[in-house]
This record gives sequence, structure tokens and C-alpha cells, in this order.
Amino acid sequence: MTSSEKPMTSSTRTIPVKIGDNLVIGGGNPIVVQTMCNTHTNDVGATVAQCRRLAAAGAQMIRITVPGQQDIEHIRVIRGKLRSEGILVPIVADIHFSSATAIGVAPHVEKVRINPGNFHKDHEEARRQFGRLLDVCREHGTAVRIGLNHGSLGSYITDLYGNGPDAMARAAMEWIEMCIEKDFLKVVVSLKASNTVVMTEAYRLLDGMMRERGFRFPMHLGVTEAGNGDSGRIKSCVGIAALLEEGIGDTVRVSLTEDPEAEIPVARYLAARYDGRTEFPALSGRELKMLDAACTWGPKLLRRQVDTIDDPTVDAYLADEIMQAARRRFYRPEYIACPGCGRTMYDLQGAFEKVKERTSHLKGLVIAVMGCIVNGPGEMADADWGYVGEGNGKVSIYKRHTPILRHVPEEEAVDRLLELIEKEA
Ligand code: SF4
Repeated sequence: MTSSEKPMTSSTRTIPVKIGDNLVIGGGNPIVVQTMCNTHTNDVGATVAQCRRLAAAGAQMIRITVPGQQDIEHIRVIRGKLRSEGILVPIVADIHFSSATAIGVAPHVEKVRINPGNFHKDHEEARRQFGRLLDVCREHGTAVRIGLNHGSLGSYITDLYGNGPDAMARAAMEWIEMCIEKDFLKVVVSLKASNTVVMTEAYRLLDGMMRERGFRFPMHLGVTEAGNGDSGRIKSCVGIAALLEEGIGDTVRVSLTEDPEAEIPVARYLAARYDGRTEFPALSGRELKMLDAACTWGPKLLRRQVDTIDDPTVDAYLADEIMQAARRRFYRPEYIACPGCGRTMYDLQGAFEKVKERTSHLKGLVIAVMGCIVNGPGEMADADWGYVGEGNGKVSIYKRHTPILRHVPEEEAVDRLLELIEKEA
């Protein structure tokens, strides 16, 4: 009997997925904490050093971008160096668009993250290429994450189902069906969005579809492009906590536009809280109070079980931030900023701070600051304005999904963005 004939409806647990030799995601195991390098993958020394720090901080899985086939060898060397130092943390290759790169790197990593819909414009060809990747992954024991983000679903899906949570869940379900048909069960799924309402709804819908199908694969949770500082932490906690509270989610990544080390304490806090453990990572009293309030009130606000935060220990600033993260009241502009990765060719963190400083009065707008021109524009989803680093000291400015200015020198880019916004006002 093949796995496609085995109904699993009796179990509410997700299918356990082994990642490498020592880690299991799902199946009732503790929530796994993961992050992603923001070093350039071809800088092997810097990437190994960052992985070392991340593993020491508590990352149980580390993702590294593989921009092209030339980086497969870098990944192989990075992983080899880590293993030779006794650092066994599984490595996840992050691939965009190229199935050849995914297939080439799959034998050298524990897991590959892809959006198969982006492999090819022709959907049938994308399916064929995904099938080939699954064959290679099976041969090498490599797991796959089907990672779909709101805003980059591709026209095949948006033409069929639109661009909302339902479209995200249905798109994922098609690839999941292919895995089931091919009897490939080392699968984890993610449906990230920067909008916490869209993100939580997409995961809930997919969870329902998988339960109905009888194959409940583990879910990787994340609020993508959450930004930085307090608001990035609060937004991540609100979206992730809402799902973990409902028993959805097996591994978490808190995406911050900061050094990835900063993500780990927040992710560890979430994992401990929803695994029912009381030991927390190094968090200050202020941070702990902030995360507690976000996890306590954010899910209730998102589900519209309450309309305000009725807690004298939550001050007005924190209440405003939680309300905005749950998209119940907007007291400042909404910022979207990717965490950056090996594709980022400029000072993303500095640019994001500059944009925030100059646009803080523009309440009601959604402003995105993205790390690369390859994926940034597609991933900005519902932004009104986008500031996208091209590399070589140049920036593109987008109005929604349309580039308005290209190749703007970085020193002038925030001024140009403000001029355009003011012209529209
Ligand atoms: S949008 Fe940001 S995180 Fe995504 S690939 Fe580009 S630089 Fe990396």
C-alpha cells in the first residue's frame, strides 16, 4: 500500500518530518526555532561564522540563500566546515525560480525551500520540474519546504483564485497533492504574509484542507517582512501566537530587518510559551513584558474577540503597536521590510531606519523597504510605495507594483520617495 492510500484522519498531529539525522519537525515534537543568514553565500568565511553564532544562540535550523548554480559549491563547503567543527545544525537551501539550482543543491543540504510555481511560466513545465526535484530529494533524504508568500503567487494562481488567503492555501494544496501522489512525505509548508490577518487566515484554511485530505503536513510559521524593533517583534508575535494557540504550527521563524541573531530570543520565547515550557532565552524585563502582551492580546484582537486592550499594565504605546499589528487601528504608517539575505547588495537596515524617520508622519500609508530587486517587488504585496535596493548604490522606487523611478542614487532616494508621495497627496 502506498502512502497515498493511507488515511490519517484519526490523528490530529502533523506528519513527523525528519530533517537530517537529529531533528524532527511536527508529529507533536517541540516547536523548532529557525532563522536565515544575511551574509553573502559566496563569502564562505562570513557565512560559516554567522552560522556558528546562530547555532550557539539556539537556532535549530539555518537557511542560506542559493542565488545561482555557482553557489552550490559554496553551500557544500559551508556545510562541510560546520560539520567538521561538530556543528550539526541542519542547513536549508533557499531557492528562487531555478529548479536546476534546487536540484543541484538538494544532495548537499538537509532541506530545500522552494515555491514550485515560480520554476517556470508554463505551469505544466513547473510541475515536471518539481517532480524531478522530489525524485532527487527522495534519493538523498532531503526534505522540502513548499514556501508560498502572499504577493508572489504568480499569474497562474491569481487568475484562477485571486490573491487572498484562499488562493494561497489552494496553491499550496496543488503542490501537496503532487507530493502525496509521488509518495513523498518529507514536506513542510509555509504561507507567509506581512499582513497578520491574511497570514493567519491562509494557514487556517490550508490546515483545514490538509485535515480533510488526511495528510496534515507540518507548518513553518512566519510573518514575512515584519520590519524591525518593537513593531517587528510585536507583529511577528501577534501572527505566530494566534496560530500556535490554535494548535497550528511546528516550526517558527521571526523575520526581522536586523542581524539574524536578534531573531532567536523572540522565536525561542514563542516556542517555549506554546510548548508549555517556562524557561526563556535572554530577554530583558521590558522585552518579556512586550512579547507577553503581544501574545496575550494580539490573537484576541485578530479574531475580533475583543476590540480594545483592557489591561492597566499595557501602556498606550504598547497598546497602539499591538492594535496596529493586529490591523485593528492604524496610528502610524505600516512598514514592510524584508530581513535581507545573501541577495541584499546595500545597507538595508540603514535605509529602513532612514525611510522610517522621514515618513513617520504619513499615517495610513503602507511603505515597503526591500533588500533586492529580484524578489523585493514581488514580495511587497499590498504596499502603497516601495523602496527597493538594486545594488551598486542605486534604488528603484515603486508605486504599488509599478516602478516609477529606477537607478536613483541611494543618497537621493528617500527625498525622491517623499516628493512622489507628496505629489500624490
Ligand atoms: S526580498 Fe529580501 S529576503 Fe527576499 S530574497 Fe530579496 S533580499 Fe532576500
